[in-house]
Amino acid sequence: MPKIGIGYDIHRLEAGRRLVLGGLDIPFSAGLFGHSDGDALVHAVMDALLGALGESDIGAHFPDTDPQYKGARSIGLLDEVVGLVRERGGEIANVDAVIVAEEPKMGPHIPAMKAALAPVLGIPASSIGIKAKTNEGLGAVGEKRAIACYAVVLIELPD
Ligand code: MG
Repeated sequence: MPKIGIGYDIHRLEAGRRLVLGGLDIPFSAGLFGHSDGDALVHAVMDALLGALGESDIGAHFPDTDPQYKGARSIGLLDEVVGLVRERGGEIANVDAVIVAEEPKMGPHIPAMKAALAPVLGIPASSIGIKAKTNEGLGAVGEKRAIACYAVVLIELPD
């Protein structure tokens, strides 16, 4: 049975923080604020997977009030969510995502993001789409105060 899921996340940019996106450290003057490492791309993918399973969102699974998730590497949390898919006998078919960021340029980092996500998702990099867009200067993202990410996934579950 094919199941799709959608995920969205946005995090504020804070000067001097490390920027982690798609499981990568990206050199930049600001990073994403959050209880975990703030990896909005991985959070969007996690929510898409949980949505395809009919589960509640990552806030319910990994509460930001729980000290064990303070500074957590989001890619490790993604691994736990992929484990949930596997427990249900599910297989991930593909993931497609959009990063909306005014800065820095994401294009050069996309191949490495796919390479970081592929082994965790258990799918080839060719089954992962990541596009980078700006917000044309509009709103909080356009004003470089935040980075937003969208993701959709398709998983196959047993009937
Ligand atoms: Mg988040």
